[in-house]
Amino acid sequence: MMIVMKPDATPEQVGHVIEHVKAAGLIVHLSQGVETTIIGAIGEAHNIPADIFEGLDGVDVVKRITQPFKLASRQFHPENSVFPLDGFTVGGREIAIIAGPCSVESRSQIIETAQAVKEAGASALRGGVFKPRTSPYSFQGLGEEGLEYLVDARAETGLPIVAEIMSQTQLDLMIEHVDVLQVGARNMQNFNLLRAIGETQTAVLLKRGFSATIGELLMSAEYILAGGNKQVMLCERGIRTYETATRNTTDINAVPVLKNLTHLPVILDPSHSTGHADYVSAVARAAIAAGADGLIIEVHPDPAHAVSDGKQSLKPEKFAELVKQVGQIAQVMGRNLATTGVPSPVFGRGPG
Ligand code: PEP
Ligand code: MN
Repeated sequence: MMIVMKPDATPEQVGHVIEHVKAAGLIVHLSQGVETTIIGAIGEAHNIPADIFEGLDGVDVVKRITQPFKLASRQFHPENSVFPLDGFTVGGREIAIIAGPCSVESRSQIIETAQAVKEAGASALRGGVFKPRTSPYSFQGLGEEGLEYLVDARAETGLPIVAEIMSQTQLDLMIEHVDVLQVGARNMQNFNLLRAIGETQTAVLLKRGFSATIGELLMSAEYILAGGNKQVMLCERGIRTYETATRNTTDINAVPVLKNLTHLPVILDPSHSTGHADYVSAVARAAIAAGADGLIIEVHPDPAHAVSDGKQSLKPEKFAELVKQVGQIAQVMGRNLATTGVPSPVFGRGPG
């Protein structure tokens, strides 16, 4: 249920309504817009009559949120969620371009890649240090050592860093160092992990599971939002279909569908959704034309020798071309590519 306050409602009136919501056994989620305050009353609200709130002072209207994903729904939050990410904003006019290798392999590899993607116009750096691999015998990531290299790359370039978290045991370490926690496709429904991340204030890139519906992706986002972490980006990374010409099938429909259903920013990953470097640029352009708020793209200085996902990784020159093309599409869409701030010499950032 959402309780929309009148534009001139006083803080005391808002406080009074909040007390009533709590007394009804519901959880309060406050959304303070420029003009109106909306009080989300979340929980088993279906058997609570709306009129217990309707008569309270300062209340304009009470509406039921019909979607099962309450906090993620556009019904609850009609405007796009826009949040800052180290020098730029996600979800607004700016388009975020997150780029970097699938895995951090060495200090020189990640720093070289970070400099190249920054030069080409990326706004954030990606690099996996805990890698979810199909085989237990494949490279599993450099772990904490890799994270240190990633932090060094941020210090060199000023690019905020995005890295995948696989388990709650990594949470303290990760929130101390990264700007964005990536939750991978394989962990989209790891509800304990989602709940734990919901209790932090670190931004999240939540990837869609390869067999998950859009509705399930939104319910997973709801777990994070319900904990109080509002900085959630959704990522379409391709779904599994009967098609074998590509690694996955880019569900381009997901972009406008998600933009319609939710206020959260939508990022597209053309690297995993196609699995082939040759197709990444075309799908990246399509994503921005379809209304995506950003891209996450794998870039490697020497894809042929990458320890993971080399086949789908772009060389820096190809990535630079992609950024130029995407920039043109962005302009047509009335948007522009985000640019990031200055390099920072700080090691670690404190818990996010
Ligand atoms: C990755 O980003 O390298 C990755 C493992 O992605 P996904 O979870 O989408 O497979
Ligand atoms: Mn990868």
